[in-house]
Amino acid sequence: MAHTERARWWYVRRAQNRKPATYRCPLCGGYLPALSEHVLLVPEGDSSRRRHAHTNCAVAARRAGKLPSREEWLRTQPQPPSRWRRAIERLRRRDQ
Ligand SMILES: [Zn+2]
Repeated sequence: MAHTERARWWYVRRAQNRKPATYRCPLCGGYLPALSEHVLLVPEGDSSRRRHAHTNCAVAARRAGKLPSREEWLRTQPQPPSRWRRAIERLRRRDQ
């Protein structure tokens, strides 16, 4: 992943391109014709920083855990206890 910028999470979607441009895949560094089937990597949902990547490269990177989705990233973040959990803990304390 030497060519991708740092992002906490990525939005990956199928690219729909009608422009006959050629991009460079940030995952493998190889050329990517815009009219071929490929995906867009959107760092933290910021489409101004989106990169075109080979579908296979994106799938492999996802499998290797290198392109976590927003939901996957959120799960790794410390979260405040939910109301439900706090209620259960209150009940537990009362029972002791
Ligand atoms: Zn690639």
